[in-house]
Amino acid sequence: MFKPQFLWIKTPFLYFAQVIAQIYMRKKLAIFFIFCSVILTAQEKSLSQTEYFDFKNMEAYIKILPSMQRVEGDLNYNFEILAQEDSLFIDAKKMKFSEVLLNGNSVEFYSDEKGIYIISNFLPSKNNKLSFKYSVSPKSGMYFINWNSSETDKLDRQVWTQGQGRYTSTWLPSFDDMTEKLEFDLSFEFPSEYQLVSNGIQESLEQMNDSISLWQFDMHKPMSSYLVGVAAGRYDSQIMTSASGDEIQLYYNPKDSLLLEPTYRYSEEIFNFLEKEIGVAYPWKIYKQIPVLDFLYAGMENTGTTIFSASLMTDSIGFKDRNYVNVNAHELAHQWFGNLVTEKNGKHHWLHEGFATYYALLAEKEVFGEDYYYWKLYETAESLKELSDSGKGEALLNQNAGSLTFYQKGAWALHILREKIGNEAFQKGMKNYLELYSFKNVETDNFIAEMETASGLDLSQFVKDWLEQSAFKATQSLESLRKSEFIISYLNIAALRETSLERKNEYLEDALDFPVNDYIGQEAVNQLAGLPSQMATDLYKKAFETNNIFVRQAIARTMEKIPESLKSEFESLLKDESYLTIENALFKLWEQFPADRTKYLEQTRNLEGFYNKNIRMLWLTLNLVTPEFEPDKTQKYYEELAGYTETWRPFQVRENAFSYLYQIGAFNQQSLESVIKGTQHHTYSFRNYCRQLLNELLKNEEYRQKLVAISENMTEEETSYLKSKING
Ligand SMILES: [Zn+2]
Repeated sequence: MFKPQFLWIKTPFLYFAQVIAQIYMRKKLAIFFIFCSVILTAQEKSLSQTEYFDFKNMEAYIKILPSMQRVEGDLNYNFEILAQEDSLFIDAKKMKFSEVLLNGNSVEFYSDEKGIYIISNFLPSKNNKLSFKYSVSPKSGMYFINWNSSETDKLDRQVWTQGQGRYTSTWLPSFDDMTEKLEFDLSFEFPSEYQLVSNGIQESLEQMNDSISLWQFDMHKPMSSYLVGVAAGRYDSQIMTSASGDEIQLYYNPKDSLLLEPTYRYSEEIFNFLEKEIGVAYPWKIYKQIPVLDFLYAGMENTGTTIFSASLMTDSIGFKDRNYVNVNAHELAHQWFGNLVTEKNGKHHWLHEGFATYYALLAEKEVFGEDYYYWKLYETAESLKELSDSGKGEALLNQNAGSLTFYQKGAWALHILREKIGNEAFQKGMKNYLELYSFKNVETDNFIAEMETASGLDLSQFVKDWLEQSAFKATQSLESLRKSEFIISYLNIAALRETSLERKNEYLEDALDFPVNDYIGQEAVNQLAGLPSQMATDLYKKAFETNNIFVRQAIARTMEKIPESLKSEFESLLKDESYLTIENALFKLWEQFPADRTKYLEQTRNLEGFYNKNIRMLWLTLNLVTPEFEPDKTQKYYEELAGYTETWRPFQVRENAFSYLYQIGAFNQQSLESVIKGTQHHTYSFRNYCRQLLNELLKNEEYRQKLVAISENMTEEETSYLKSKING
């Protein structure tokens, strides 16, 4: 899984630059490592069900009824009994069951909120069959997007699932325990006008009646239940073939056909690269990627069927600032690390996330170059160092660690391990590890043992330093980063942050010489922020002339007061191929040169920007506060802006519209309703945003009265949440 984060370059923290700075700034810097002893809670000793039963296969016939937000299914399991037992449990949350049969005979069972219990005298034997029918209205795990309103465009209606975190059993009776791996052969009934995608090879597509079709999928290998995934909606697809002959299916909403190429630009290259780098054939025959609306995370690696956030769909201009490349590579890497070889439990979670992060970084190095690779390692080292210094460093083998540790410290551990044992041993050990534990579950020791065998080295110090120790090995990582000449040059410039411009002028000038480095050039520009001198103006001029899109982006972001002498250069930013640059430049020019406002608005009239329409919404808002531009269209522009809060819109669009309406104090009835509905949204970050916004709005008496009056179109949860806030 990949949790969302902004992908563009941010101002880095200072640690490594400070280390360099010591050399000639004569500033002593104390580095405190805080060693926390890792206390591991004793694992529960009770035997898990997998000691008694081994499930081999599930055949599922599932009807998804999207307008009723309901699932009805008919399941057949094939399993082996390994040891005598008197009950069998299947995770199935809040479901109703009927026609429960064990080897063809009716059998005693009962069910509760958690699942179904089959009561029988189970004796060791093979080829046992269990079957039943079930129905459920899942409240999580499976999400029904935009089926409530009859007005919604069918292109915006979707159903999708998110299994990781024990959620598959909210809609499919299955096994929350990751060590129970079985083969899933899934069939789905769904309205024919949509496309449906799930794990495995699509065996057939049958028309059941006028409006319903049946999709049948076949898998050949076992996997854990959290990797079951299904997505349905209006989709077109493009098909390509990997170098090794596997089919890659790239899905997209027909509305987004122009985004297809830039979004998936490196899909084939990444696939071929990872297969070669990892040295083990892609295990699942077919690979599908499907963007969905209002997804919970950036992406999820369901076996052979990655579901990712439609907000990562991008055009060629947006691609430069934020794109799908990292998530694409991360989820694909999981197909080996997580899906083929799976952790036994959460203590070994880095075997999934650290590995996926590391291999994604290698794929990005292939696409974007070595500087990018070292830059990412540098950025995460700064974050890890900061966490570590604040006493919150986490051991990789701490099952309660946060994502910074599992993902980034995990990737760092592999980077260091590779340096330590060399490419050849690293690749050999990795291949052996994957082959030995294919379709099985592992612990970290299994991985280390393979790496020790392949390298002939004792890795116990590495295990202590990188896996067991909670502090981050900052000195060791700095040593490693300094293998990159680019990082050395970058740190030399970054070390000048506290130095006066007079003393560092020539260094910054050099940093902006042709050919300028994206990161070093940005760093030089960042250091000019707020400096009004002629010297700074000359450096800005040089920075503009680099014509480097990222250097110019840094100017747009960080220049506070635009001097008259740089006005025309700054205006040229409105033509840059970067939505970040244009958004910043438009606002600053509008703010600082009131006489030219209509000119700037005219120039940016037809731009949308990123998925969240960043430029369009800024443009509309500026229009509303610049009535002299097009006085007769004020109402129209307001309606467009407020319209972006409609509840069928992606939450990223709604949130952006909310923030502009808040700034200009212009919520209407419909946008207030949308805020209330947002307080119950399934996506945590958006729900939280709406809750905080509602608190703010309630402080305004006019809004408060309007909110009190809202009762129509609200669910029980929405109404009671609103009431609690009004009365609270
Ligand atoms: Zn992941």
